[in-house]
Amino acid sequence: MLHLSKQLVVRAPKLRLSAGAVSGSGQSSSLDQNSNNYSTNRVGPNLNQCHKRLSSTSQSSTAGTMKRLAGKVAVVTASTDGIGFAIAKRLAEDGAAVVISSRKQKNVDSALAELRKLNLNVHGLKCHVSEPEDRKQLFAETISKFGKLNILVSNAATNPAVGGVLECDEKVWDKIFDVNVKSSYLLAKEALPLLRQQKNSSIVFVSSIAGYDAFELLGAYSVSKTALIGLTKAAAKDLAPEGIRVNCLAPGVIRTKFSKALYENESANEAALSKIPMGRLGTSEEMAGVVSFLVSEDAGYITGESIVAGGGMTARL
Ligand code: NAP
Repeated sequence: MLHLSKQLVVRAPKLRLSAGAVSGSGQSSSLDQNSNNYSTNRVGPNLNQCHKRLSSTSQSSTAGTMKRLAGKVAVVTASTDGIGFAIAKRLAEDGAAVVISSRKQKNVDSALAELRKLNLNVHGLKCHVSEPEDRKQLFAETISKFGKLNILVSNAATNPAVGGVLECDEKVWDKIFDVNVKSSYLLAKEALPLLRQQKNSSIVFVSSIAGYDAFELLGAYSVSKTALIGLTKAAAKDLAPEGIRVNCLAPGVIRTKFSKALYENESANEAALSKIPMGRLGTSEEMAGVVSFLVSEDAGYITGESIVAGGGMTARL
């Protein structure tokens, strides 16, 4: 999805991450496994404990063993690898039936096989988020397979070139905005009639900490991610009276295939880590925990918010 590795290897030593971030992509399952030392799923259990103390009404507090997303159906885009895959896995582990998708059928097949090995309730199909027919099929199969839709997580993004925002070629700009912003808006718009049929539906857009403070080599990408924070706020206000919540995840620098260029290059790695108060990259599982919280009843009074999961990096618009 985001193809920055080579450029970052070459240019990363020059990076000034400031309060923004290198945005990246791609965490394979092996990386997922390798990242266990970063305390897998640390957000979920903590939130559940918190929830148990504070709430006496929602599902997980009334039945200790009941999963908090039991009975929900979720669509997660760009979910055969990286953060999207971790989100799909986590929502399914939390009890949801999950529809995964990405551009390549072979990636869908292998992700499905991995999730089914864990006995998770998943379905999958090819869906390039910019393709109207693919999106149509995505929701049609969700309904034919699981009968309803409660949760949409719009996670796909692209960054075909690096550089400053005003150096960006117009075609590259259009591509970035088509995939990152327009497809998110269209997915939400097309999901809405289905979400309206269910109680407590919600949408999560995956933005980036770069949407708060543009990363200099990811100019247009950063602006597209700022637009998603705006989309979240606007849609949340529109849909709040109907009880449909709209929130946003803004990951910091996440340990993925994409950010390999940073952590495998000593000087780039040092530069990145020096800007992250927690002194390490985040994991896809940590991002998934935040999304699981946002779509759950635990976040029932939260809408229009963007949660920055960036290891303490400053984020402010
Ligand atoms: P990634 O690993 O590059 O994304 C991989 C997934 O996206 C694959 O499943 C890929 O499968 C699919 N995909 C790519 N383009 C697609 C498209 N047009 N339509 C549908 N599926 C598509 O990315 P990631 O790091 O997990 O990033 C996920 C989200 O987090 C993105 O929105 C990204 O901007 C955001 N983010 C990431 C970081 C980070 O450090 N990693 C930081 C901030 C924000 P196919 O190849 O089969 O399509």
